[in-house]
Amino acid sequence: MKALIKARREPGIWMGEAEIPEVGPNDVKIQITKTAICGTDIHIYNWDEWAQKTIPVPMHVGHEYVGKVVEIGSHVRGFEVGDRVSGEGHITCGYCRNCRAGKRHLCRNTVGVGVNRAGAFAEYLVIPAVNAFKLPDAESSGGGIGDDVAAFLDPLGNAAHTALSFDLVGEDVLITGAGPIGCMAVAIAKHVGARHVVISDVNEYRLDLARKMGATRAVDVRKEKLVDVMRDLRMTEGFDVGLEMSGNGQAFRDMLTVMNHGGRVAILGIPPGDTSIDWNQVIFKGLVMKGIYGREMFETWYKMIAMLQSGLDVTPVLTHRYRVDEYQEAFEIMRSGRSGKIVLDWVA
Ligand code: NAD
Ligand code: ZN
Repeated sequence: MKALIKARREPGIWMGEAEIPEVGPNDVKIQITKTAICGTDIHIYNWDEWAQKTIPVPMHVGHEYVGKVVEIGSHVRGFEVGDRVSGEGHITCGYCRNCRAGKRHLCRNTVGVGVNRAGAFAEYLVIPAVNAFKLPDAESSGGGIGDDVAAFLDPLGNAAHTALSFDLVGEDVLITGAGPIGCMAVAIAKHVGARHVVISDVNEYRLDLARKMGATRAVDVRKEKLVDVMRDLRMTEGFDVGLEMSGNGQAFRDMLTVMNHGGRVAILGIPPGDTSIDWNQVIFKGLVMKGIYGREMFETWYKMIAMLQSGLDVTPVLTHRYRVDEYQEAFEIMRSGRSGKIVLDWVA
């Protein structure tokens, strides 16, 4: 089958041939319709330090996708050939304490589709059936879950998991980082009833996207200070909830200084290992901080589908669509930072 393969230990990704994966008794085989490019795929493309020590070569990567079930393992219940599905990219062990308690997102033995094992940038993907997530018809969901959006439910799930970590109703929310995930978090925070949703970045293209997603203010922190924005919005005390989605140490430090006492901070962005913060901001303000990894299995999935069905619109974040044979251009645009989500069509 056709696949986008990390074939060599150097920057790049290449279209090539891979074996069609075999279906085990507990698996489903999915014929891929569309995929989306994740920041992780760009790390793999760029072959940075993380990718060098994580990605087996050669392997086809990718973990954001939608497709159709074409084959079902003998022990699988609840799926039929033809079901439209996306899937949870974290494959969990099922036997550790958290898995047994139903807290699979906290599994200590998580394996990543397209990171630790073959991925979705291919004509077929095989995953454990429990990881597949059946989608409602595009038509019955108010048009909200067509194949384009379904291709990037994985990062929408990151945004939903982070944003729904704390009560946002009537709260003032600061999001640092207007990448695709930060932009989608803006839409979610507005959808569930936050008051002001302020987002920061250093990239004007992305700040514009965040405005289209409904941000109260999208702030270029090179030009404007968060405290000035707060004054404009007549916020006298500080932000109630912070969502760190930049992975940038300075953004995180800035966030801590503008949080109100008793504020709650969810951290999705992955900062460099030696990032330091002013702990006084955390301790004397009594901040609550929560690290976020992946999506809750499968509460986040049910919630994001329900939000899409009840009017959450994330379509402005989708900025480019390509046929899969145009992948080189798609990766170049994603690397340039002048894009939101980019979807590749595998069947067009
Ligand atoms: P992204 O890299 O596309 O977006 C990050 C944004 O932060 C960029 O637009 C960048 O310009 C911006 N930024 C840089 N410096 C900044 C600053 N000083 N202030 C404000 N913004 C600044 O990433 P993404 O795909 O949207 O993901 C967001 C983050 O979440 C990344 O760090 C990613 O690695 C991480 N992530 C974590 C998980 C998890 O499970 N914990 C899952 C997916 C992604
Ligand atoms: Zn486990």
